[in-house]
Amino acid sequence: MKRSADVVIIGAGVTGAALAYELARRGIHDVMILERRFPCAGATGRCGGGIRQQFTTPHNIRLAMESVKRYEVLSEELGVDIEFIQGGYLILAETREETEALCKAVALQNDLGLPSTLLTPEEAKRVFPLLDETVIVGATYCPTDGHANPFRVVKGYLHRAREHGVSVEKFTQVIGLEVKGERIVEVRTSRGNISPGVVVNAAGAWSREVARMAGVELPNEPVRHEIAITEPVKFFMEVMVISIHNGIYFSQTKEGQIIGGIGDPEERPGYNITSSLKFLRNFARELLRYAPALGQLSVLRQWAGLYDVTPDAQPVLGPTPGLENFIQANGYSGHGFMIAPAVARHLADHIEKGVRSEILDKLSLERFKEEIRGEAFVVG
Ligand SMILES: Cc1cc2nc3c(=O)[nH]c(=O)nc-3n(C[C@H](O)[C@H](O)[C@H](O)COP(=O)(O)OP(=O)(O)OC[C@H]3O[C@@H](n4cnc5c(N)ncnc54)[C@H](O)[C@@H]3O)c2cc1C
Repeated sequence: MKRSADVVIIGAGVTGAALAYELARRGIHDVMILERRFPCAGATGRCGGGIRQQFTTPHNIRLAMESVKRYEVLSEELGVDIEFIQGGYLILAETREETEALCKAVALQNDLGLPSTLLTPEEAKRVFPLLDETVIVGATYCPTDGHANPFRVVKGYLHRAREHGVSVEKFTQVIGLEVKGERIVEVRTSRGNISPGVVVNAAGAWSREVARMAGVELPNEPVRHEIAITEPVKFFMEVMVISIHNGIYFSQTKEGQIIGGIGDPEERPGYNITSSLKFLRNFARELLRYAPALGQLSVLRQWAGLYDVTPDAQPVLGPTPGLENFIQANGYSGHGFMIAPAVARHLADHIEKGVRSEILDKLSLERFKEEIRGEAFVVG
């Protein structure tokens, strides 16, 4: 293992992989990714793969719109079929208040150029024919949303990054960060120490612990989210469906499996990633309320992963106040897979040219000093 690198990225999830690739494309090849287990061991390899742009804050909408543009060309660019299915997202509402929230969100999204629309229950059923439209009051749809295979995305990014000389150090845990003055001068790992130019904290739900190694306090908290997948059936469902009523989301993979999850409002922060019967019962019940025909499918597997949740459900991005070479890339609050490609570009531009885009400014750690308005749709 090398003993120094221009850029040391902690974590080989979609964030670390995408950033390494974007840096390499810009000619920054002396990049190391340090991963305590293996690529996709964190939330990325456990996620639903949903890619939506229908958010309620301008920053999340912009980052997601930029990312969709990337996802549209990524298979060709990376030379790996990322299984991107651009069948849109259907968002369901069951009450008048929820429909009003969707209405407000669509107005903001349309202002920013997103082609999302409000639908009646009957129109929603035309988008997703298995829907029991009597359960909902309204819905929104955006045809350019979609979903992809997270494993293939990371594989593609890392493959191209390695071709450019990036090294990916598996089973290499960061155990300490030595600070001198306003810089991190040494990254201590389970396999020896590295002298870094820039250090990027892309450690997902463990970012708070990594930041603490440098004396930096992040407001992020890990929260378990559970997910399940069924046996495969013939492909019939291009659209991904979510509900702001209960936080359920589900889609069909290219192989034909229905994959989906639902949040538990009673879940407390912590590193528990065991699976529960409570989740499976709740998920099945809510899924069948919306699409009773799916009750004929058997669940094959269930698992859990961690959301890295911030107080405003938006990521923490960019340089750290007081530590000039420590960059944050975490706190996605459950929607990191979909925005990572855009985040990687903003951060790579910053590392290459020292520019700080408006989004990096707005989503920096400094914002938590002020009161801010957060993202309302925290669903897959
Ligand atoms: C059940 C579930 C469903 C989800 N569904 C969606 C979805 O549909 N769409 C969407 O956009 N997002 C979804 N998400 C969120 C998404 O998975 C994450 O936001 C995203 O994957 C974060 O990627 P990351 O690379 O930043 O972090 P991670 O993928 O968590 O990667 C961080 C890596 O850092 C490593 N690491 C940690 N500490 C250290 C250390 N000290 N030293 C070295 N390495 C370390 C970990 O092993 C891990 O591999 C979901 C999450 C879950 C749990």
